[in-house]
Amino acid sequence: MNRYEIEKQAEEFENAGPREILSWASETYADKLAIVTSFQSTGIVTLHMLGSIAPRTPVLTLDTGLLFPETQELIDRLEERFDLDLRRIKPRQTPKQQARDYGDRLWERNPDRCCHIRKTIPLRDALVGFEAWVTGLRRDQSAGRAATPILSRDRQSGLIKIAPFANWSETRVWRYIREHDLPYNPLHDMGYPSIGCWTCTKAVSGDEDLRGGRWSNSSKTECGIHVAPLVEAPRG
Ligand code: SF4
Repeated sequence: MNRYEIEKQAEEFENAGPREILSWASETYADKLAIVTSFQSTGIVTLHMLGSIAPRTPVLTLDTGLLFPETQELIDRLEERFDLDLRRIKPRQTPKQQARDYGDRLWERNPDRCCHIRKTIPLRDALVGFEAWVTGLRRDQSAGRAATPILSRDRQSGLIKIAPFANWSETRVWRYIREHDLPYNPLHDMGYPSIGCWTCTKAVSGDEDLRGGRWSNSSKTECGIHVAPLVEAPRG
């Protein structure tokens, strides 16, 4: 798709629901489509919807080696329940090897480098061969995500990036999870609206935004896989 086509389609999607957008993605990209998820609330809704559209869509998840045990258990559970084509993407180095080469607790001293090693590079490599990927980004998650386009060209991979739930709210996502009795990470009930590596995730207080518990001791707000898109689609 060229820039004009992306912008036009993104504009049309402003009035479409995620099921319609996921169906379009599956028909358009077939086996060149992947979903990238960390099995948080929106990802679970995505997997459930895809189950009746394209259940064998490859599911890429970044296994940094530093995930909470609760997250690992949820991934195992959902892999079995949804019969996922799950691909656990691992960094080239274990946490121990990283400590040997970069020093202990790199995430405290240089979280951007740590995310680059453990997330950005592995995802970039894993997306080779695909043409499009689905993400659970939503505009209500943080100020930095408020302009998330539903369709864009990803700056890093060069692939089409689809955010079918960009205009869904946290409330709507959780209503869907409860209505369909879907499993979710128990940490969400313990004050963690957003969950990443255990090393960089804390519970939030009531007045913080949904991603306020991520890298809370630094100015960092994103791991780096969601950099600004090449095409900023117009909002409807
Ligand atoms: S979230 Fe923290 S531990 Fe995980 S890759 Fe990024 S900086 Fe490293």
